[in-house]
Amino acid sequence: MAEELSINQGILLFGGTFDPIHNGHLIIARGAAEELEVQKVILVPAAQPPHKQGQCIAPIKDRLNMAVLATQDEKIFEVSNCEAKRNGPSYSIDTVRHFKTIYPDVPLYWLIGADSITELASWYKIGELVEECTIVTAGRKGYSSEGLSLLANILNQDQITRLKEHVLDTPSVEISATLIRQRVLMDLSIKYLVPDEVADYISIHILYEK
Ligand code: ATP
Repeated sequence: MAEELSINQGILLFGGTFDPIHNGHLIIARGAAEELEVQKVILVPAAQPPHKQGQCIAPIKDRLNMAVLATQDEKIFEVSNCEAKRNGPSYSIDTVRHFKTIYPDVPLYWLIGADSITELASWYKIGELVEECTIVTAGRKGYSSEGLSLLANILNQDQITRLKEHVLDTPSVEISATLIRQRVLMDLSIKYLVPDEVADYISIHILYEK
């Protein structure tokens, strides 16, 4: 019962390529959960990220395993393989609808980093997505509302206002998955950039070395 009540405060969905998951992801997810006062964060690694078609990415199995290892000590985190189970591009709208069927009465939030604001205009069915969940943007520091101007012809004023209102004050750090992959390739340490378990997984499974 207590569990049900706490979930009813909302669930934060966090999709990404997570190739690999890193501390930048974990810091904003933890911070956003705190600010929104939600008790459940579901990480959803994208099996086929629509914006990365044709790019070489690590197998979804490895990206899921790393997300599990990165969050195993924090009870509020869960990792979903729902996008791994679907065929075709991994669209966020399909994922939100998937969780709506499981949690019909629970507010759903979708977390993005500030740098993703400029990409929203190209997201599949973005108009429907902003109606079916609340998109929250993390890392106010890197946020620029100019990115929203790209949405002017796609979303209505009310929808754009809601996006502007849901910018969170989460802590953030300048870490990217690109940086992690580059450092592994150059045989440089990734300690403190990813959880130790993720660094060990990358090393054992010889990821990102070419
Ligand atoms: P890549 O460098 O390969 O593009 P990435 O580090 O941006 O990867 P993704 O899995 O593509 O990681 O990102 C998932 C989400 O996390 C995106 O919305 C992105 O904006 C956000 N994000 C990633 N790193 C950070 C960070 N250091 N601070 C804030 N948001 C971040």
